[in-house]
Order: sequence, then C-alpha cells, then structure tokens
Amino acid sequence: MLERGDVANSWRRERWDSLRLLTPNWQSRLPGHRYDGADPDGFMTTGEVVDFIARFAVIAAAPVRTHTTVTSVRALDGGYHVATDSGDLRCRCVVVATGACNLASVPAVREAIPASVECVTALEYRNPSRLPDGGVLVVGASATGVQLADEIHRSGRPVMLSVGEHVRLPRTYRGRDVLWWMDASGVWNQRYDEIDDLARARKLPSPQLVGTPQRATLDLNALDAAGITLVGRLAAVRDGRALFSGGLRNQFALADLKMDRLLDTFDEWAHHDPRGADVGPRERFEPTRVPASSQLDLDLRSGRIRSIVWATGFRPDYGWLHVPVVDRKGQLRHDGGVVESPGMYVMGLPVLRRRKSTFIHGAEDDARDLVGHLAGYLARSI
Ligand SMILES: Cc1cc2nc3c(=O)[nH]c(=O)nc-3n(C[C@H](O)[C@H](O)[C@H](O)COP(=O)(O)OP(=O)(O)OC[C@H]3O[C@@H](n4cnc5c(N)ncnc54)[C@H](O)[C@@H]3O)c2cc1C
Repeated sequence: MLERGDVANSWRRERWDSLRLLTPNWQSRLPGHRYDGADPDGFMTTGEVVDFIARFAVIAAAPVRTHTTVTSVRALDGGYHVATDSGDLRCRCVVVATGACNLASVPAVREAIPASVECVTALEYRNPSRLPDGGVLVVGASATGVQLADEIHRSGRPVMLSVGEHVRLPRTYRGRDVLWWMDASGVWNQRYDEIDDLARARKLPSPQLVGTPQRATLDLNALDAAGITLVGRLAAVRDGRALFSGGLRNQFALADLKMDRLLDTFDEWAHHDPRGADVGPRERFEPTRVPASSQLDLDLRSGRIRSIVWATGFRPDYGWLHVPVVDRKGQLRHDGGVVESPGMYVMGLPVLRRRKSTFIHGAEDDARDLVGHLAGYLARSI
C-alpha cells in the first residue's frame, strides 16, 4: 500500500478546522474495528477520524509505505509498472484507492471573478479568520457549502449562499438520526446494479447535513433564519457582475419533494419492520421558504463581497494514471469497481457498488466483493 502522506492523509491535510463527520460515531466501522467510545450518537472531529483510521491500520497490520507518491502507473506485460518518488515497482494488480475528492471542482466562471475578490476552495479553506474582512459569497449548498456558510456567518461576516441542485435532509426523523433510517431501511445498502439512473446517482450532491453535539438540522430554512442571504445558482459572471439563476422556487420544491419521498420510503419500511415499533410518530417538515424577492445579480466590484468560497464539489485526480481508462470528464471507466483494464480495481467512488460506497462504513462490503474478484483474476491468470 503506497501513501503519499501519512495514514489518513486526507483527514490530516485536506479538511477545515471545525469539520466533524456527518455520519454518527456508531456508523464509523471498518473490518474488525468500530467505534467503541461513550458517545455512539456523536460525530468525530477530524483529529478523531485520523486516530480511528490510524488505529485500524495497526489492527489490520496494513503494509503501508508512507511518504511514497505514485507518479505513474502504466500497463506492462500483462501487469503494471508503478513509478513512485522513491523507486519503481511491478505488480499484477492495482487497486486505485486514491479517493474521490483530490481536487476541488470549480466552475469555469471563476476565471471571470475580479481580482479584488479573494477565491478559496473548500480544500483550501481552514477557518473564517483566514478570509478577508467583509462579505462572503459561498457558492454551493451541499454539506460543505451549508456548513461553511453557517460557520462564516457566525464569525460576524455577512454571507450570501448561492444555491443550485441540493439534497435536503433533516438531522433526525421520528426521533432517530436520519442516517439510522438510511442504514436500517436498507437504502444505503442498495446496490449499484439495482439503481435505475446510476449515472445520476453517482453525481448527486452530498446531503445538507452537519454533525454537531446538538444534532441540529442545517437546512436552508435554518440558514435563512440565521440571516444568510439565499440566492440562485451562480450562472455567469459578466463585466464584474455575478448573475444568479432565478430558479430558487423550483430548486426548493424539488429538494422538498425528494426529501418527502425518502421519508415516505422510511415510513413504509417502519410500518413493516419490527424496528419501526420503537420510533416516534410520522413527521413532515416546513417546505423551504422562498425569499420574497431573490437577488439576481451582484456587483463584485462594489466591495460588498470580499471573498468567494467555492463549495462546488470535489473530483478525483488521475493525472498519474497512464492507462486509457479515464473518460473525457476525468472519471474512471469501471463496472462496480472493476476497471476496464484487466487486474485494475478502484475503491471509494460515489455509489461504486452501493449507495454507501464513498463513506467510511461503505468500504468493507465493497472491499470484500472486489477482493473476491481480484483473487479470481489472479488465480485464472497464473
Ligand atoms: C469534506 C468531506 C467530508 C466528509 N465527511 C464524511 C463523513 O462524515 N463520513 C464519511 O463516512 N465519509 C465522509 N467523507 C468521505 C470520506 O472522504 C471518505 O469516507 C473516506 O475518507 C474515503 O477514504 P478513501 O481512502 O477512499 O479516500 P481518501 O481519504 O481521499 O484517501 C486517499 C488517499 O490516497 C492518497 N493518495 C492520493 N493520490 C496518491 C498518489 N498519487 N500516490 C500516493 N498516495 C496518494 C491520499 O494522500 C489519501 O491518503 C467526507 C469527505 C469530504 C471531502
């Protein structure tokens, strides 16, 4: 196992200071290692995630070679040639486990932002004190965007949040964490080959959730009530003016509808499953409030906004992979983690084999499936 940094590098180097997992502690589980502390319903800080994964590496006796960056992988003689910054290797199989979030996905409009406005991606952001004083535009309202908008607003800065397609979820439903419902009802275990529109499922933004000791819901109504200004999707920047789409009402209605459909699925499951006897009464939530008049443009030279935080998602980086398995959009071509090159596998991508694939607790089942395939491949190719 080759790792360019230390074990759990992404959690050491690429997260903002205040981040906590949005998955509850009881859900943090890896093969033979699970959270066993006193607060199963709490949410780990990044430091706790680092400890959790580092402990797993010890328990699993994982043969990790740290501070070894893979600079190139090429197909060679029915196997692969792997170049690293500390020597080369030959192998029959490669498992690409470099993560789904190596680079920030920033829309092309960034190029047109006036130089007077400081731009920061979610991978670069650490805390509000590193931003210039003054107003902040956060672009993107998924888990990252809502969390950063909330934190920056609490630091006393005026915050505008640009909202595109998003997934709304309450933190708790009928007295249980919403991720308990995802787990218990089997939604999270749904397999990739059972999902109607897999391409779309793989592109879905992360749900608007935050892990706080108060188990607070951080949806757009909460942000609006706190005083954050909601605007539509950032569609263009022209002559120093940011232009926002006017489709907020539709975006909100769609997210509310999808949330209600998911809650219907949970209710249906609870009606038939014995575990449904222990939950609270059915709930429905206030629809997302549409601002009386939403702002459609903003002069970025006016000084009202001094910085922009791009919370527009992440993407993998396969710049080192010199095997023709990456499509024009920079995504690996694979079937449930079996890459289109014999002996090559990938782990940790969204809905790789199950809806839970990209989460910590999703690794175990996917690894078991893929190791089965890999072992078969090795046995056949001896
Ligand atoms: C902001 C954010 C919040 C998240 N919150 C949660 C959460 O609450 N709960 C949850 O379960 N999941 C969460 N996730 C998803 C989380 O990242 C995964 O669950 C988990 O970290 C994925 O592990 P991984 O090993 O697949 O990828 P990563 O953690 O990204 O690990 C990939 C590793 O590959 C190394 N690497 C990359 N390129 C090279 C190279 N060329 N050579 C050598 N090494 C290389 C990196 O240094 C890194 O250590 C979150 C992700 C993000 C970005």
